[in-house]
Amino acid sequence: MRETLLAIAHQFSQDQLSPGTTGNLSVRDEDGRSFWITPSGIPFASLSLDDLVRVDVESTRVIDGTRAPSTEVPLHSMTYQRRTDVHAIVHAHSLYATIFSTLNRPVKAVHYQLARVGDEVPLADYATYGSKELANQATNALGNGGAVLLKNHGLMTVAATLSEAYQYALDVEWVAKLYFMALQIGEPDVLTHDEMARVRRELDHYGQSSVTP
Ligand SMILES: [Zn+2]
Repeated sequence: MRETLLAIAHQFSQDQLSPGTTGNLSVRDEDGRSFWITPSGIPFASLSLDDLVRVDVESTRVIDGTRAPSTEVPLHSMTYQRRTDVHAIVHAHSLYATIFSTLNRPVKAVHYQLARVGDEVPLADYATYGSKELANQATNALGNGGAVLLKNHGLMTVAATLSEAYQYALDVEWVAKLYFMALQIGEPDVLTHDEMARVRRELDHYGQSSVTP
């Protein structure tokens, strides 16, 4: 689990999804009552296993590791408390998703690549980074979805696995970029809820799964 977190943290750095040391990733521990999170202020590319920090979901206290955890511990811990189905979280200041957060506009389904994440990415009200208020606003707006924009701040995605949550972040960022570019020319069409539901059903059979008996 820590190795997966480390591998995706390195990928996060390579993909340049968030500038500098911004953004953070976590996975829920098998015990269900704690999570492993990236440390505060250390470049993702140079992270090693010893830099990862384990935090208790209820108390938000560090129970393993020597580093100071990410400043967004309240955001991660409240998400794990309120969403028992969530086992991994990605938070990024990815450029195009963040642009929509500053405009108070959700990222809409201008492309079916958003389908696994949801019909659109909703927007949480603004609160200062690292605060409990931000955690509250984010989890309220997230509801049962896979992603939420944090107003004038960035993006959070959640899933059952870290590779899935990471893929959601890449998908949202790509659709946000497409949406942004389309808006330079006009107002793009948005796929309907019915069509997005159809795409989700198709995606369940996509790839090699459709050819195996
Ligand atoms: Zn942030």
